Amino acid sequence: MRRISILGATGSIGQNTIDLIKRAPGAYHVVALTGSENIAQLAQDAMALRAEVAVTANPARLEDLRTALHGSGVEAAAGTTALVEAASRPADWVMSAIVGAAGLAPGFAALEQGTTLALANKESLVCAGRLLLQTARTHKATILPVDSEHSAIFQALVGEDISTVERIIITASGGALRDWPIEKLAEATLEQALAHPNWDMGQRITLDSATLFNKAMEVIETREFFNVTPEQIEVIIHPQSLIHSLVGFNDGALMAHVGPPDMRHAIGYALHHPTRAHLPVERLDLAAIGQLDFRVPDEGRWPALRLARAVMAAGGMTGAVFNAAKETALDGFIAGQIGFAQMADTVAATLDDMTQHACLIADTMTLDNVAQVDHLARQAAQAAIANRAGH
Ligand code: NAD
Ligand code: MG
Repeated sequence: MRRISILGATGSIGQNTIDLIKRAPGAYHVVALTGSENIAQLAQDAMALRAEVAVTANPARLEDLRTALHGSGVEAAAGTTALVEAASRPADWVMSAIVGAAGLAPGFAALEQGTTLALANKESLVCAGRLLLQTARTHKATILPVDSEHSAIFQALVGEDISTVERIIITASGGALRDWPIEKLAEATLEQALAHPNWDMGQRITLDSATLFNKAMEVIETREFFNVTPEQIEVIIHPQSLIHSLVGFNDGALMAHVGPPDMRHAIGYALHHPTRAHLPVERLDLAAIGQLDFRVPDEGRWPALRLARAVMAAGGMTGAVFNAAKETALDGFIAGQIGFAQMADTVAATLDDMTQHACLIADTMTLDNVAQVDHLARQAAQAAIANRAGH
């Protein structure tokens, strides 16, 4: 039986993973499931899947978790140390699906036990890509991409020589506000930014889709994971979200990955890799779809793309600054402190402000240094928000 753990089990990716696991009773032994606030879901899944341990990130919820698991034989634990301990328990496959920089330490802990890490937590690659790949090599662990674009690229590269790749084209839906007049974007509300046209995802990534910060993160993720140059990476708006990305080779061929917008495909591909297995996703009717559209993204509308290029050019731990600033700006927008368009302003101001810590950002990449950069960048972003909110 394959031993598996799911970090971020109560989220959108976690629940899609559990959906696949539950369809194959007896095939998996579940080691650890982790969550945060949704204790009822965590306990219910941990009992249904007979997990060894369920962990909530929030120590204040430990008693609730213990009560919910009472008599089930599932161990309960809480806090960041418990998360890392759970991720370190021997498993053959670990899903890394915690949202945000909080997913870094558990993901690294999983790699250190030499497992196969199915990586949905793109923040790990953006903040500490080089270190993550190095850790995987050191511990003979494997990383499989779960972000749909990166799964698409990975699949297009099977059997190919990376040196024959000319370019990688990442598709973007454009998010909820893609057809809004630019001058109205500043007024967009949380509810409007959350109305994603194609994908059903967690709240934070859905908002990041509307600003294209999600795509900006994915450009950096592509650079880190596939080791291509920033110039080789293109972004194209593709409103239907059916082509998940394309790889262009030196003979002019473009390999596109086409499928329904259902994360169970990318999760299932990583779960069954290197083989393919039947998955319960929709089969596309191309004649009914009829048409696929593409257009160049307007960087005036989506400054996040320009910022991603600046981050890649700056190098070092600038990715950690970018992610921390973006997470803080998103919190500011969700809390109503700043408007939609001010999220990009906040990230740009933070990147500028952090030049005073240039030595630290250029220092050796370690998890501690990344955490320190993350901490300082959050402070700088908060100061930028306070500045703007006061105007
Ligand atoms: P989500 O918000 O639905 O779920 C997040 C999970 O992380 C939950 O289990 C939550 O309990 C846990 N969590 C939240 N804060 C935590 C903390 N501080 N410490 C520990 N655990 C914490 O998010 P999601 O949409 O499932 O996204 C998860 C990751 O996958 C993100 O990195 C996202 O960018 C990536 N991703 C998601 C999708 C998607 O379709 N949802 C697609 C591609 C990539
Ligand atoms: Mg994606």
